Amino acid sequence: METSNSKKELSLLYGKKELSDSYISFQIDLFDITTKFRNSKDFVFIKPLRKDLIQNNFKSGIPLVAFAPITVSLDILKKCFSEILSVFISHNTCSKDTVARFKKEIDKGFIQDITSAISSYNLDAIQTLSKSTPLDAPSLHLATSEMAKPMFQTIAIGAKKSASFENWAEGFCPICGDLPGFARLSKEDEGKRYLWCKKCNLEWGFRRIHCPYCGNTDHNKLKFLTTNHREELRIDVCNDCNGYTKTIDERKIEGEETINFIRENVASLFLDIIADEKGYKIKSPDFLQTKITFQ
Ligand SMILES: [Zn+2]
Ligand SMILES: [Zn+2]
Repeated sequence: METSNSKKELSLLYGKKELSDSYISFQIDLFDITTKFRNSKDFVFIKPLRKDLIQNNFKSGIPLVAFAPITVSLDILKKCFSEILSVFISHNTCSKDTVARFKKEIDKGFIQDITSAISSYNLDAIQTLSKSTPLDAPSLHLATSEMAKPMFQTIAIGAKKSASFENWAEGFCPICGDLPGFARLSKEDEGKRYLWCKKCNLEWGFRRIHCPYCGNTDHNKLKFLTTNHREELRIDVCNDCNGYTKTIDERKIEGEETINFIRENVASLFLDIIADEKGYKIKSPDFLQTKITFQ
């Protein structure tokens, strides 16, 4: 998906009554870092793979990072993480002096540990690592997730050249294994559902009456919530696992506008608040063993 216009699209959210300008500004600064580091020279190397190997793994529901030998530069990840901490400091999301000191002390071993933890969805490891930093676990999780975005997007851009995702039938991302951040019901395919990964900025097709988190297919337990604000938006919920997916129904939008998931995900913060109030949660994937190594 094209992201070059995403910064402009995010800027259009300033002044919306349901969002604070400081939140938009924080998101734009984080987005700038993803854009800056994505596709960096000598950042990510993937050993060329045979197409049939990719397709066989995809048919078995194994995401790319779990079978492809990938090497990532720790120097580039470290620079990226350092810039994210600067954004945290400039937006007063953490204690300025202590985080500035911590930023100077970060070594490659720490970067390797947080990257391994975030790539394998090892939340216990993030929790433990946060104890050696001035950041609490949710802040370290956010900073590390943002650091991982350019890495995963670079992997996804490379993978799209040789892999097709038509046989991918899972509710998690075929590249990184993350659970969907957003979904769309397409206008062109009569309501076919596509899921979107916020890490890889990648979308893939998925069945409509099927929970991407627990596999529930009982339509009595799969509902959606709507609000008075923006009738094209809804929250698809599963009453088995209490997971939810923010969804945009393109059939309710005039014209042929292409959905910009990066903008919609930020613009729809109010849906996350509603879902949370009603007891629905964003799910985290199960532990995933990856083939990522570092240099
Ligand atoms: Zn992904
Ligand atoms: Zn479910």
